[in-house]
Amino acid sequence: MASSDLISVDDAINHLVAHARPVADTQTVALADSLDRVLARDYSVPADVPPADNSAVDGYAVRAGDLSQATLLPVSGRVAAGEAPGSLPPGTAVRIFTGSEIPAGADSVVMQERVTVTDDGITINAPVSEGQNIRHQGQDLARGELALAKGTKIRPQEMGLLGSIGVADVSVYAKLKVAILTTGDELVDPGQPLGPGQIYNSNRYTLLGLLAKAGCAVVLCETLRDSREATRSTLERAAAEADLIITSGGVSVGEEDHVRVVLEEYGGLSLWRLAMKPGKPLAFGSIDGTPVLGLPGNPASVLVTFLIAGMPLIRACQGRTASSGQGEQMPAGFSVETPSVRREFVRARKGISDEGPVVHASPNQSSGVLSAACWAEGLAVVPENNTLGIGDTITYYSFAELLE
Ligand code: AMP
Ligand code: MG
Repeated sequence: MASSDLISVDDAINHLVAHARPVADTQTVALADSLDRVLARDYSVPADVPPADNSAVDGYAVRAGDLSQATLLPVSGRVAAGEAPGSLPPGTAVRIFTGSEIPAGADSVVMQERVTVTDDGITINAPVSEGQNIRHQGQDLARGELALAKGTKIRPQEMGLLGSIGVADVSVYAKLKVAILTTGDELVDPGQPLGPGQIYNSNRYTLLGLLAKAGCAVVLCETLRDSREATRSTLERAAAEADLIITSGGVSVGEEDHVRVVLEEYGGLSLWRLAMKPGKPLAFGSIDGTPVLGLPGNPASVLVTFLIAGMPLIRACQGRTASSGQGEQMPAGFSVETPSVRREFVRARKGISDEGPVVHASPNQSSGVLSAACWAEGLAVVPENNTLGIGDTITYYSFAELLE
């Protein structure tokens, strides 16, 4: 097979993203339930955060100018956090705490560790510069500015930010509804005895885990027999229920590979065979307008193709605007002697060599081997048409980054 028959990984990802069907439905969820959801609208700042100048430390609010006249300042008042601040009479100090609003007339706060307290007041033992230890009104978010944009995935810090601007209910996109269809006459569910020629269905569970991490709702999860008719009818049923169908197996060139053939029959096969290792047989198309991502059957290929090709598609379908991470540039702790026309995704993890941090490859890169993926913590990328020497720079993506 000539390399020109294979689609480059970059072209394939662009194609998938361009053919994504973003979820249109939105819903409102309580802020407490918004983790990992995707914002369906922009949120701008209704009022300054913080709403007023406040103290960054426990100490005393003063006017810096007063200190040239007096070394002893009587304590004229006290403002606890949550109280209205009142004002600072000239020539005095006000006892203040972290988060207390600054009384009118004060322009600085002295940490309590820098003062000596007597019955008559406080003596300050350090120079005071105007404005010190004050957190200014609007320093985090100013009224009217964009706090978070539509398409942002909500992490814990975004939950906190929404809380800080008073949002109690959040407008998010509906969860992406995904159908998982694993294919193969040889597959048996865990819990059942294995007969001759049978193997346990592992892809189903890899995909359930990946989709849960990706924030998707699995609406259908079935195993298909290797028959044209079963494949056609189940794909049709799945297309009616799901926003996205993910299959495993049945996309290669054998006569029992029905997923690709059914997509072809529908005229919906728009991508097949990638310059990617593992994952060459990956197929993409649509059934009745619902995108179908046909992953290869080999268990390690499922993991790698889901992360590399599936995640960009899923992000786009979820209405997210951010693209995937950039990975990390690391020295390779392994070598590749023979260049390949396919970009290789090596199950790998970071380690330390005598020269410093390196990326180690799992010793067994067979696409049928899942144990190597469990040993690994990410994927290292060997570019197409390249050899690699130990110590050469390589891009490494952690699994967590690929699943963001
Ligand atoms: P296929 O592309 O259908 O020929 O599958 C390629 C290889 O992956 C074969 O060895 C299959 O037995 C294996 N395979 C396919 N689906 C699964 C699955 N759900 N779980 C475990 N292995 C599978
Ligand atoms: Mg098969």
